[in-house]
Amino acid sequence: MDDLKKIIRDIPDFPKKGIIFKDITTLLADGASFHRMIDLIAHRYLDRKIDKIVGVEARGFLLGSALAYKLGVGIVLVRKPGKLPYKTRKKTYDLEYGSDSLEIHEDAFCPGERVLIADDLLATGGTVAAVVELVSELGAELVECAFLAELDFLRGRERLPQDKVYSLLHF
Ligand code: AMP
Repeated sequence: MDDLKKIIRDIPDFPKKGIIFKDITTLLADGASFHRMIDLIAHRYLDRKIDKIVGVEARGFLLGSALAYKLGVGIVLVRKPGKLPYKTRKKTYDLEYGSDSLEIHEDAFCPGERVLIADDLLATGGTVAAVVELVSELGAELVECAFLAELDFLRGRERLPQDKVYSLLHF
């Protein structure tokens, strides 16, 4: 797994001073690494009866759609406000650098559907905690939240349901 970690680039002071941004574009652009990353994550969920992936804008779409394809299931988009065309449900949440809101179509799930949330990186956990609330309010069942990478020192997993967090890589 060290090779996958090494290919992720650190950008100091982006988007503001003091943040070390984990730039995954270097991993995404490398075909063998991208393929391996998706296979490793998807393998964990082959027998977990996932009905839908929820991808979080924007880098979660990349991870989420590849996982959905691999598992043969659909993907639901969680987007920044004003982007989704149908009726939406909205949540506001805190970020490592600021605050933001996310929306999901209110008819995204059938009752009890088993859902896997996918995002690129778990930092403070604020983003995906909001997505977990949206999923639960819309009557779906959360199987797990899957990340390419987790910043362990920010302890974001403590804001998410216990035992329902998986990260392929840890920093
Ligand atoms: P958080 O809500 O703090 O867990 O932040 C999660 C979202 O912000 C993720 O979807 C990441 O894309 C982005 N993010 C936060 N901190 C970083 C970081 N240090 N490097 C790269 N992306 C980050």
